[in-house]
Amino acid sequence: MAANEQRIIIIRFGELWLRGKNRNDYINILIENIGSKFTGLKYKIEKHYDKIVVRPTKSSFDEALRRTGFLFGISAYEIAYETEPKLASIVRDSCAVMKNANDRGAFRINAHRAYKQHKFNSEDIVKKLADAAEKMKIRVSPKQYSQEIFISVAKDAAYISMQKFRGLGGLPVGSSGRCIILFSGGIDSPVAAWLAMKRGMEPVYVHMHAFPDASDAINSKIARLIGILSEYHENYRIYYIPTHRFQVSALKTGRYELVMLKRFMLKAAELLLKREKSSMIVTGESLGQVASQTQSNLFSEEQEINASIIRPLVCFDKSEIIELAKKIGTFDESVKQYRDVCSITARHPVINSDPKAVLRIEKEMKLDSVAAAAVKSAEIVDGSIS
Ligand code: ATP
Ligand code: MG
Repeated sequence: MAANEQRIIIIRFGELWLRGKNRNDYINILIENIGSKFTGLKYKIEKHYDKIVVRPTKSSFDEALRRTGFLFGISAYEIAYETEPKLASIVRDSCAVMKNANDRGAFRINAHRAYKQHKFNSEDIVKKLADAAEKMKIRVSPKQYSQEIFISVAKDAAYISMQKFRGLGGLPVGSSGRCIILFSGGIDSPVAAWLAMKRGMEPVYVHMHAFPDASDAINSKIARLIGILSEYHENYRIYYIPTHRFQVSALKTGRYELVMLKRFMLKAAELLLKREKSSMIVTGESLGQVASQTQSNLFSEEQEINASIIRPLVCFDKSEIIELAKKIGTFDESVKQYRDVCSITARHPVINSDPKAVLRIEKEMKLDSVAAAAVKSAEIVDGSIS
């Protein structure tokens, strides 16, 4: 190929278009996230008005492309070649790209001019390229085709691409601030965490463990699951909070034990909000999935908690959650055995808890000071969060 043979990755933002004045901030966060994600790779990066252009070296290209698929805030990305924004160069280099394709089937040609001041328009590109291709015995057909070529023309460059991929969508992680995620290590909470990250929230995980020694939790599947989720965003923090104080104080709570445990978790999370400059708590609860997740229990647990409590899975079926967990990559780790604190509490929890009774029990068991003491003895693991 005559022009620049170097393959590049073009990243498009989709929803960021809607963001008006803040758009630039979002793109800057995305560029920062690309920087963390591409650690160890060699590349150059350019910010354009409507896209980001990444130029990895040949040896970094495949890995850069793979990692791009793990970035939130990207609607689509493509492998492209760059050429001059002139009709002759576009036609010459597009023909070379088409000639190189493994597939011998017909091409559909798609052209788009983002910059309208050039002397040629998209129809000129399609027509001239079709003529030149046919002379080189490359078949072209707008209707019966087995592959496509995309040409987009900007002010200072034109891009030729044959491979487009869908991005993860959502918003760049960090652009919506931070959230506290109640993280159990089951199937649901990792999916809830992923969805929170998808909407731009940087994760601060809180895991409540039932071990005498925090290192049993720190070396468990909890850390491995968060490791899998960190493929989507490297920066996070984990609080490992012991539950023995709660268990002692809850001895007489009977069928309210599980509701009180959830309330204890929310209270502990609430205590961390200020420190983490957040106002949002995320859980993996889903309405009616288990006896403890009824409308009245969710209300009893969250009453008077001063936070936005987000339950991304509240309307998901279990089968939908499992499907997503498999897609994200957390499912296999989630189903491994673990001594979760919920599994050692009351077997038959109250289904229609009385919110007033919950407030009365929590006073009796001094839940506020139990939660405060538990938070004080948390072990913190930082995954490069600042
Ligand atoms: P999951 O699959 O997320 O464990 P689950 O179906 O087992 O959920 P529960 O055990 O009732 O349901 O937990 C509901 C939610 O409560 C979890 O999604 C999580 O947000 C929170 N939670 C449960 N256990 C813990 C824990 N040990 N530490 C922190 N949060 C927890
Ligand atoms: Mg669970």
